[in-house]
Amino acid sequence: MDFKKYVRDIPDFPEKGISFKDITPLLQDANALASAAEALFGLIKNKKVDKVVGMESRGFFFAPLLATRLNAGFVPVRKRGKLPHQIISEPYALEYGTDVLEIHVDSILKGEKVLIHDDVLATGGTAKAVCKLIEKLGGEVVQCNFLLELEFLKGRDKLSGYPVEALIRY
Ligand code: 5GP
Repeated sequence: MDFKKYVRDIPDFPEKGISFKDITPLLQDANALASAAEALFGLIKNKKVDKVVGMESRGFFFAPLLATRLNAGFVPVRKRGKLPHQIISEPYALEYGTDVLEIHVDSILKGEKVLIHDDVLATGGTAKAVCKLIEKLGGEVVQCNFLLELEFLKGRDKLSGYPVEALIRY
């Protein structure tokens, strides 16, 4: 399936000068949604996965679908102050300044194999911070998996040492 047909560019969103890849057309089409979930699953290639970690908020669309397909649990990584139980946190770069990502301390057990999923790989700062959170808890990142990669931003370079897969590349 040509998934690019279901991704639209929104100029000047969320700020002037940024061209935002909007994946909602893909989500709202029954066939494209099911095909994308299955194709993302196909990128994992028989790796054992105990937990799928998805990033707030657009990582939450596919991460639980992948988790059920892999017989794995789903773990949310959220922005500051959203998770109710005991957390650890990791800073990550925003365009201007930094924010933090948080994960529950009991969400990943030592030695567990973890798949990271997010909708878009841009500069890689978000995914790198999530790798650090998982490793602080003793988990092992087996793959960083994205619906869409913006290759010109070189996020892969920031994730060197981790297997990176993406379904759609620009
Ligand atoms: P990074 O940390 O790799 O620079 O940015 C990735 C994060 O920003 C992801 O969580 C992703 O949801 C969001 N993001 C950045 N650019 C876009 C975009 O063009 N479209 C969408 N849907 N998300 C984006």
